[in-house]
Amino acid sequence: MKYRCPTCKKNFDNTADRQEFFPFCSSRCKLVDLGSWLNSEYKIAESPVNSVNQDVPLRQTGKNNTPSEDSEANH
Ligand SMILES: [Zn+2]
Repeated sequence: MKYRCPTCKKNFDNTADRQEFFPFCSSRCKLVDLGSWLNSEYKIAESPVNSVNQDVPLRQTGKNNTPSEDSEANH
């Protein structure tokens, strides 16, 4: 029976020695698929970090505009 590897789109026979990789044609394709799935998860988690980096200059100026503790020290 011929199967199609979801990773490399290659047709392969699901022989006994490939059962552990099914539905992938090899351990490499199985790991690649798992890695790409994890990478997509990480990208979703990292996308807010990238926007934060763009806001860093604004946040630094914001810190300078909050002298609440300094005014209390002057009293
Ligand atoms: Zn493959």
